[in-house]
Amino acid sequence: MTFPVFDLHCDTLLTLLGESGNEAGSLRQNHYHIDLTRAREFPGYAQCFACYTTPFMEEQRKCSPITVFERELATFQREIHKNADWIGQAFTAADIEENRRQGKMSAILTIEGPAGFGFDPELLEDLYKIGFRMTTLGWNERNPLAGSHITGGGLTDLGREYVRKAQRLGMLVDVSHISDEAFWDILKITQAPIIATHSNSRTVCGVSRNLTDDMFRAIGETGGVAGFNAYAGFVGEQADLETACRHFLHFLELDPSGKHLALGGDLDGCDPLFAGFAGVQDYPVLAQGLLQRGVNREMVADIFWNNAVRVLGE
Ligand SMILES: [Zn+2]
Repeated sequence: MTFPVFDLHCDTLLTLLGESGNEAGSLRQNHYHIDLTRAREFPGYAQCFACYTTPFMEEQRKCSPITVFERELATFQREIHKNADWIGQAFTAADIEENRRQGKMSAILTIEGPAGFGFDPELLEDLYKIGFRMTTLGWNERNPLAGSHITGGGLTDLGREYVRKAQRLGMLVDVSHISDEAFWDILKITQAPIIATHSNSRTVCGVSRNLTDDMFRAIGETGGVAGFNAYAGFVGEQADLETACRHFLHFLELDPSGKHLALGGDLDGCDPLFAGFAGVQDYPVLAQGLLQRGVNREMVADIFWNNAVRVLGE
């Protein structure tokens, strides 16, 4: 039994650029976590593709984040064009459903770390026009917008402007990677659903990248979702299917409606994934695990597809 899969976060664009940062890897078929050959087996597939950047790239990759951002975007556009028989870029929730009706997969552009365009809220409008629909306020660094879960530090005035601008345009604000202080600063001013595209439960796995119970409830109250991250380090010490399911079951105790859970695997961004989950092809294993632990079919379908479509449509 399989479900359509809507995954809110991957780093496949950077992975396709390879070690040198300038390769032209194939989205159609590769040996990474995600390719279209595997994903097209599902009865529906929508994938958010992050253009990921951080100021650390200058040091780590000897490449400016602006260059990396441009190459990731170019990779997205090239691969969507090359694979137009299988996948289409989606700008709206309606595009996603229409692509699915036509038997096509959907690709959505997202921002992980605005370092790639200088943290400039003024550029969000142009980015929205070409299809960016979600944005974090950073990665693991402290930056001109906010502190991260590593550094601490709240939302700055520029960060507030960034949140307001994104939300006015209809771009979803993604709190994954942010500090706890900045999370609550955003919750005070938000006018739209807040999402955590790739963050788990801190009660189940006590790392700062995961969400506290209060954070998860607050996200739910805005109408947003939290996407399940398959990275072993955020799943737990015993990172297997049992522990992975525990994150969902815990969040379902806090919110029995199941309307505020989704998927955000962090595929091609993290290694290792939890045991028994080797890539996009294993999402049915996770669905089966949830069914076996008493989550009903409708709720699994919400978690795997409907909730993400709803929040994108709001
Ligand atoms: Zn991330």
